[in-house]
Amino acid sequence: MSGPEKISATGKVGLTDTSLSDIAKLATKNFGAGHLADYIPALRDVDPHQFGLAVIGCDGETHSCGNADTRFSIQSISKLFSLTLALRLVGVDFWKRVMRNPSMNRFNSISDLETNAGIPSNPFVNAGAIVVSDAIVSRSSAPNRFVLDFMRTLSGKGDIYSNDKVASDEAELGHRNFALAYLLKDYGNIDNKVDDVLSLYFSNCAIEMSCTELASAALFLANDGVDPKSGTQIITSDETRELNALLTTSGMYNGSGEFAFRIGLPAKSGVGGGILAVVPQQMSICVWSPELDIYGNLVVGQFVLEYLVQNLGISIF
Ligand code: GLU
Repeated sequence: MSGPEKISATGKVGLTDTSLSDIAKLATKNFGAGHLADYIPALRDVDPHQFGLAVIGCDGETHSCGNADTRFSIQSISKLFSLTLALRLVGVDFWKRVMRNPSMNRFNSISDLETNAGIPSNPFVNAGAIVVSDAIVSRSSAPNRFVLDFMRTLSGKGDIYSNDKVASDEAELGHRNFALAYLLKDYGNIDNKVDDVLSLYFSNCAIEMSCTELASAALFLANDGVDPKSGTQIITSDETRELNALLTTSGMYNGSGEFAFRIGLPAKSGVGGGILAVVPQQMSICVWSPELDIYGNLVVGQFVLEYLVQNLGISIF
């Protein structure tokens, strides 16, 4: 099998379509190594043997393979974009409500929040993302639509939607998220009604996008906060550096250390099977395959990212 071409000195992506299809073949060999998220029917019923990859350079050079254009439930990848919005709306004061530390507890741990007296460890564990949702609800009269519009603008796809059935199943079965939100409320770290805050949180989790759309939406993180497609400054260069640091330390939950060791890129996972990774100054990468490991991160996707990082020499470390 021929590997990807080495990344060039000019920062070009350095992949050929042939090498990408070789990666896809390699990925399919690893089908069956993980398990599907099973807490809601929409995720449990997905065909597990799917794989998509999209790699987009800051100059727009795009490579994709497999199911790169199939939309899937982005789940916690949305936390990266809702945090971006909260930083735009609130600025540095947002950090009075959420810490910036990795957590060795599970992403929806109650004890983590209780130990820290209602201040979530970081914005990517569920409690942190619920505080992010609260900050947005306080500043928007139509928060669900507000986040969707942000995703539409960033990806350039006006038909991106949140799947209502997934959102309502999340609400019906998300008892632990209600527990976290009420505990946050008890500690005074939620200003709005729990139902309103979680309505936004669940709506964000239920957004459906493809690898290509997500990689395009995240390009500002690889480009000092400026979306290279439109030239719009989404967040400042300093906020971008900080966000990438948080993605590196906490984006893969309590598997972040292992992910840094193996892959070494800022990244965010979701239980729908997606990982969105950033190569600062160069490109964004989104990989999707629904089977997950014990941390809730995808098995095949990590394998593919590891292969890409080794062959392109793009780890930040
Ligand atoms: N909807 C899931 C939850 O809130 C998202 C978890 C994830 O994608 O990691 O539990």
